[in-house]
Amino acid sequence: MPNKMDPAALTADLVRCPSVTPNEGGALVLLESLLGQAGFECTRVDRGEVSNLFARWGKRDAARSFGFNGHTDVVPAGDEAAWSVPPFAADIRGGMIWGRGATDMKSAVAAFVAAAVDFVSDTPPEDGALILTITGDEEGDALDGTVALLDWMDVQGEKMDVCLVGEPTCPNHMGEMMKIGRRGSMSAWITVTGVQGHSAYPHRAKNPLPAMARLVDRLSSHVLDEGTDHFDPSTLAVVSIETGNETTNIIPATCRATVNIRFNDTHSSASLSEWLQRELDQISDAFGVAAEMEVKVSGESFITPPGPLSDLVAGAVEAETGVVPQLSTSGGTSDARFVKNHCPVVEFGLVGQTMHQVDERVEIAQVHQLKAIYTRILKDYFV
Ligand SMILES: [Zn+2]
Repeated sequence: MPNKMDPAALTADLVRCPSVTPNEGGALVLLESLLGQAGFECTRVDRGEVSNLFARWGKRDAARSFGFNGHTDVVPAGDEAAWSVPPFAADIRGGMIWGRGATDMKSAVAAFVAAAVDFVSDTPPEDGALILTITGDEEGDALDGTVALLDWMDVQGEKMDVCLVGEPTCPNHMGEMMKIGRRGSMSAWITVTGVQGHSAYPHRAKNPLPAMARLVDRLSSHVLDEGTDHFDPSTLAVVSIETGNETTNIIPATCRATVNIRFNDTHSSASLSEWLQRELDQISDAFGVAAEMEVKVSGESFITPPGPLSDLVAGAVEAETGVVPQLSTSGGTSDARFVKNHCPVVEFGLVGQTMHQVDERVEIAQVHQLKAIYTRILKDYFV
């Protein structure tokens, strides 16, 4: 198949759009125009200060639909003086495109847009639809991005049967890893309150610190699980303990601690919250202090069990790279945590070594390789 739309040139064009979250920066305008010309029906789904793009080729009620999801927003460049190149110039050096968003993830958006555009012009699938959901809010709060697109799709009766998220998934070498799920993430802000007093008369005070020390020791030494077939063991990290007390003659009234839990599919945020609450109650009883917490959930754990979708993607990766990708659930969260409520979802993208770093860059050859993989996935899915 002729390599008509150049995914590397499109990557460079996108890097030149300064789309620091939540600014659209011209990136979605560019994609909307390219996709519109290629026969995709495009709708801007904007919510709050965020811009998103929905694009469908084929009929809404097509027998089969394949979806790609990605984001064009990027994290800030940070200290621009620390960069070897201007962060939004898309300089080409040493066979690489340099700039913010080059790996995370304008290159993957360019690769799936190029693959989709060429695919529908070369081998338009009969009774099939391609759906691209591209958000401008993944790196920010992610409240008005993919969530807004999926909400809008529900209302409109738009449906993806399966979806591939193009986040960078390979740690070192192209093709070595895809993601079939992600661990959940939640944080708890814990406050233990006693009675303030003079440190020379500790019996007249109620010191919250020993209670907190016991609590964080219990929490951090607890084995949450041993891992499952597809997940590493869940982890709890104590990330802060503070009293703000700078004196030596006062026992403070309160102590605060923060913990972050990354959990697999043997838990839910609800079951973990219950466990934390039981631990707090015990400490409260044992020490005669008050122990309270506030919980924030970033995402539940999820998995798309190995099956037709992971086989499809893994097969295309192997055919194009010669590498059999590992099916992983490692790493942080991504928008796949929202897409999983809509349809089966897996993630495959480039090597993510320089994402969010100064001098973020991507190998041009890898961008072409990624387009070839995405093209093969579409062929194998529809043909
Ligand atoms: Zn990303």
